[in-house]
Amino acid sequence: MKTKAAVLYEYNTPLVIEEVELDPPRAGEVLVRMGASGVCHSDLHTVQGIHGWPLPTILGHEGAGIVEEVGPGVTNVAPGDHVMISWLPACGRCRFCVTGRTNLCIDIAWSDAGTMMDGTTRFHRGNQPIYHYETSSFAEHSVIPAQTAIPVDPSLPLSVLALVGCAVTTGVGAVFNTARVRPGDTVAVVGCGGVGLNIVQGARIAGAGAIVAIDREPRKLELARELGATHGVDASEGGVVERVREIAGGSGVDHVFEAIGRPATIELAIQLVGRGGQAILVGMAPPGARPTFDALGLTFEEKSIRGCWYGSCRQLVDFPLMVDLYRDGKLRLDLLVEPCTLEDVNEAFAAMEAGTVARRVIVY
Ligand SMILES: [Zn+2]
Ligand SMILES: [Zn+2]
Repeated sequence: MKTKAAVLYEYNTPLVIEEVELDPPRAGEVLVRMGASGVCHSDLHTVQGIHGWPLPTILGHEGAGIVEEVGPGVTNVAPGDHVMISWLPACGRCRFCVTGRTNLCIDIAWSDAGTMMDGTTRFHRGNQPIYHYETSSFAEHSVIPAQTAIPVDPSLPLSVLALVGCAVTTGVGAVFNTARVRPGDTVAVVGCGGVGLNIVQGARIAGAGAIVAIDREPRKLELARELGATHGVDASEGGVVERVREIAGGSGVDHVFEAIGRPATIELAIQLVGRGGQAILVGMAPPGARPTFDALGLTFEEKSIRGCWYGSCRQLVDFPLMVDLYRDGKLRLDLLVEPCTLEDVNEAFAAMEAGTVARRVIVY
């Protein structure tokens, strides 16, 4: 079949909106008609060549849609099902999968190659393969591994459910699964973009005490307060460490989440950690980045630094949980969505670089 997609041919060039060819799903795969796709910072970083990827490729990894066709052997979904899409498949057999850490599955090397699990692509133009980018949700139709499609109540809006595929699960999962924030704990969030704002919401739902949002953009701090931050600290005004210490109490913060991925903000996050506390590194740093920290201080005060990959999520458990929290009104997602069309994708990247507040979501 033919489908319309946004294709990245060269780093640092606009995506090209065009028709591409899409082969039918093979064994263990499904064809999805996208309903919506968020535009995430990781997509932008790939456009910028910060995180290398085989080209040409169709980006987009935060999608939700409707199953149109299933390949041989697929039993978890059927045509017509509305699905949320995880960008991280899991084999279900390795020691990480069988111990409930499916986000660390070791059997996914093929996905970094930009292919399906059999090493080939379904997208192409004539003989030229077009590489997958996990979900490849910047296309009206995409073929994905069946296990990454998670069925969901069809009455819920796909534009909101798309966010569950990346920003929501990463942010809320970082709080629930990685950090395990408990009622009354103090929390600070460095960087209030799509992921950071969901960390703020997750911390509120977990019953955190003080929740300090830190950003350079006053509008983001305002939105963070609306979503549950008890304090906002404008980092452009300086003195962040002192101001946050004052709010959290002398010893510092129990859980500091870094959601940007820059060495300077990672160092700031580590400095904010209090006695016995932890820094959770959620943002993706550029390859080779080497932030520094006071090692002795870590030992003296038993602080820790932890990485967080995809909110330490187990998608079959956490995706439905996010939906329940949304339905209960605890997770406020509607005000995060700013709808746009596939043709707007390059403008959405520009807005993201300019520090726009809500998340652009392509609605098909
Ligand atoms: Zn993402
Ligand atoms: Zn596995």
